[in-house]
Amino acid sequence: MTENKKDIQLKIEQLRDRIFEADYKYYVLAEPDIEDYDYDIMLKELETLEKNYPEFDSDFSPTKRVSGKPVNKFNTVTHSVPMLSLSNSYNFDDLKDFDLRIKNILVDEKFEYVCELKFDGLAVSLRYENGKLIRGATRGDGVTGDDVTQNLKTIKSIPLSVKSNEFKNFEVRGEVFIRKDDFEKINREQEIRGEKLFANPRNTAAGTLKLKDSKEVTARPLNIFVYYLNTDNLKLTNHFENLKILEKLKFPVNKYYRKVSGIDDVKKYIDEIEEKRDTLPYEIDGVVVKVNSLIQQEIAGYTAKSPRWAIAYKYKAKQKSTIIRSITLQVGRVGTITPVAELEPVNLAGSTISRATLHNFDEIKRKDVREGDTVIIEKGGDVIPKVVEVILDKRKPGTKEFQPASKCPVCNSILEKPEDEVNYYCVNYFCPAQIQGRIEHFVGRDAMDIRGLGESIIQVLINKEFIKDYTDIFLLKEKKEELLKIERFGKKSIDNLLQSIEISKEKPFEKVLFAIGIRHIGEKTAKIIAKHFKSIESIISSEKKDFINVHEIGPKIASGIRNFFSEPESKILISKLKSSGLKFEIDKSSETLIKDSFKGKSFVLTGTLSKYTRTEAADLIEKYGGRTSSSVSKKTDFVLAGEDAGSKLEKAKSLGIKIISEDDFEAMVRA
Ligand code: NAD
Repeated sequence: MTENKKDIQLKIEQLRDRIFEADYKYYVLAEPDIEDYDYDIMLKELETLEKNYPEFDSDFSPTKRVSGKPVNKFNTVTHSVPMLSLSNSYNFDDLKDFDLRIKNILVDEKFEYVCELKFDGLAVSLRYENGKLIRGATRGDGVTGDDVTQNLKTIKSIPLSVKSNEFKNFEVRGEVFIRKDDFEKINREQEIRGEKLFANPRNTAAGTLKLKDSKEVTARPLNIFVYYLNTDNLKLTNHFENLKILEKLKFPVNKYYRKVSGIDDVKKYIDEIEEKRDTLPYEIDGVVVKVNSLIQQEIAGYTAKSPRWAIAYKYKAKQKSTIIRSITLQVGRVGTITPVAELEPVNLAGSTISRATLHNFDEIKRKDVREGDTVIIEKGGDVIPKVVEVILDKRKPGTKEFQPASKCPVCNSILEKPEDEVNYYCVNYFCPAQIQGRIEHFVGRDAMDIRGLGESIIQVLINKEFIKDYTDIFLLKEKKEELLKIERFGKKSIDNLLQSIEISKEKPFEKVLFAIGIRHIGEKTAKIIAKHFKSIESIISSEKKDFINVHEIGPKIASGIRNFFSEPESKILISKLKSSGLKFEIDKSSETLIKDSFKGKSFVLTGTLSKYTRTEAADLIEKYGGRTSSSVSKKTDFVLAGEDAGSKLEKAKSLGIKIISEDDFEAMVRA
């Protein structure tokens, strides 16, 4: 072999290794460490080399297979029709080539395309038999996937059964994703708990769908858009019609699909969608173009990896290069230190960007980001811009490696790093940055929901010494006259603010517990703790082990609570809030509701439940003092009816027994 050929062979092997490694991180761990664009470039390069040097081609190359793997913790499902990938392109010339190929295959036949959004999530298959959802699976390696039926059932928009005389046995495919706002909420919770943040909504969706416990899945709102229908026994004609049928069968079909008759209209669609992209509430990474007629699709056929009748046009992440003026540290409300790149302002995706997150010190080290560096910043579908990489060629001599700070930039106290976390923390509870952050959190929509107290107003109130911490918010009503003297404050806005403060006093204990800002205590944990311990006194007098004994509370959270309440300052905060009239125990009336609605009551379960297994529902009933029975009689108090409940439901109706839905049941449990 010549030197040159040896080099080519080596290059091919290196590319394959790197792609396998990236696949593993992306599909199995859901934690990719390279950008999609770079991955796609590597794959293209490998494809070209294999084409030009067929002697080094291999059936086992990543170019020949659908990437991804079933995870062995689930049962494996074999897809009746393989779930393939899509060939993709980043430029319009490739699309024109695709159009030419289709024209050559279909010779003189007329044809149409259907354009759709390319949702950035993961593909799943839903199998219906006799109109009932019997199985949901991931794409896996395209031939076999994971049976994730229970997890998919948490997606409320997936019909568990369809009412149709025609469509009984069929398969639907679609993309599971997480909305941008839900993603941010999930990451806020992760941050509060001191857990690793998810990189993007796609990885969150992938990680969530592979969780073993469907209860945990319920806490992470998954969504789906469907884009494929196949039946065993009916003649379907074209993709556009199939989408219409899916709509009629009440599946969630995204509204932006369009039938077009030529590649120029495809281009128009792509441009229109690119304009809309940032305003969509979910992430897309491109557009999918499919030949409409199913017969023509068959004529065009498939490669081992993707259909020849479809192509994905991917939008490039919006990137720009700029210079890092400095790296500053932001101090969060629980003291988390986040390094931020202060940039020479650039216009990116329609907005001026002057700051980008650098996540944490490890990340800076990994990318070797330095002050003065020229860097690529990127704004994908996501809201916060990030630094992708340093352009090393442009590095000026004399730049210094970034040195992680050892002291808080605001209050100068020594930073601490818990062993199992990547973050550093300022542990001075009275650090001004934390005070501001805590007040912002306290008044936030998910907490006390006090309107009219934005970041800058809070800053003004702190600077003018109206408030020193969040307890002072409730004393503002006594300072109305002085408030009126502040520039920017009109009478109306002050009245609204004071009214909102008064209304917030009605927030239930769980919200107050979340609002006071205990490290690691997110919204959900606050709810669990409030429900279990019932009052602040009981929380204060409990020991670490009492918290650990509560389901879903681990040692980290337990320490967070104990540490908080062992500070004398915390006790002072609580007592001030109490005297302002905030709720520090759960509503007695809702407690009675639990007891009243379950105690001594008899339940009958019927139909298919989607949120609980029968055993789970029965356990809950028992836990709250009720019992379950298998048949409906006059003595039955409630019939919990799921989908397709039959004779028991009829009987309950005829006896006038109270019938409750799963939502009602859930409300009773939660109350
Ligand atoms: P793909 O995401 O490029 O395209 C195929 C997938 O598109 C389908 O399986 C389906 O899930 C999805 N899709 C979304 N909307 C659709 C619609 N309307 N109609 C049909 N399908 C639709 O291909 P892939 O095989 O899932 O993933 C490969 C891509 O993943 C790569 O091109 C790369 O961008 C990324 N990747 C990245 C890394 C990394 O390390 N960053 C590693 C592996 C893969």
